[in-house]
Amino acid sequence: MSKTDLAPSPSLEIVDRTCPQCGADPTNARINPYSLDPWRIRDCGTCGFVFIDQAPVYAALSTEMAWERTSKIEETRRKTMRSVSWKLSKATRFRLNILPRRKVHQLIERYAAPGNVIDLGCGAGGLLDPLPPDFTPYGIEISAELAASAQVLFAARGGAAIHGPALDGLKLFPDGFFTAASLRSYLEHESQPAEVLAALHRTLTPDGIAVVKVPNYGSMNRVVTGAKWCGFRYPDHLNYFTPESLTRMARNQGFSAAFGLTGRLPTSDNMWAVLRKL
Ligand SMILES: [Zn+2]
Repeated sequence: MSKTDLAPSPSLEIVDRTCPQCGADPTNARINPYSLDPWRIRDCGTCGFVFIDQAPVYAALSTEMAWERTSKIEETRRKTMRSVSWKLSKATRFRLNILPRRKVHQLIERYAAPGNVIDLGCGAGGLLDPLPPDFTPYGIEISAELAASAQVLFAARGGAAIHGPALDGLKLFPDGFFTAASLRSYLEHESQPAEVLAALHRTLTPDGIAVVKVPNYGSMNRVVTGAKWCGFRYPDHLNYFTPESLTRMARNQGFSAAFGLTGRLPTSDNMWAVLRKL
């Protein structure tokens, strides 16, 4: 795959990012070897957080750089590699599929009081749909098409899906409105993850929870498969969390993070955490 496949079109508006964890200017920070031209991954010189130092503006995420589209480009890039590790990764996914899988709705039912629940990056809305009737689903989604699909599902249950960036969407809700939130495969895409966690903190009840699933940059798979690790997506995955950096960001915004016994296995590409207000 040539560089141009991942290059933004000249009309795409790109913004520079400071470190999403500590706000440091990344200009002099180390360029991470997993960078893929034209996207630079940086290791923050101040706090060590790993992130891409530029991001498409939110408006572009509705259309040109929508995940549905760029994920197809990434899929092609991976297939083109035809590497042993890609085949291994496929085999690993198959193996995971036959093991009991953790479901967001099961975690929410187990840990949260019935009430309003929000899914950040809700896609077409399917994730919260299995919740029992005493939970009312809401969602925020950057893709216009997916948000419209989610709205149909959620409105039928008394909830709603909002089209836009999560920060804008969360402003529409009063303090303590939600008993639970789902951030599944979301925080790695968010250009302002700390600000979103702060806004989420405000909209959760005092005993509200947030279920988080993100790729684990600290996983053994990343170390072994290197640049071919499935967690690298340019530029969809803007933030590369480890259990430590996720815990730190959550704590800075007023949350504790619990991973449980299996939430951060070094052999898994992803990690799961339940955040609670401190
Ligand atoms: Zn930093």
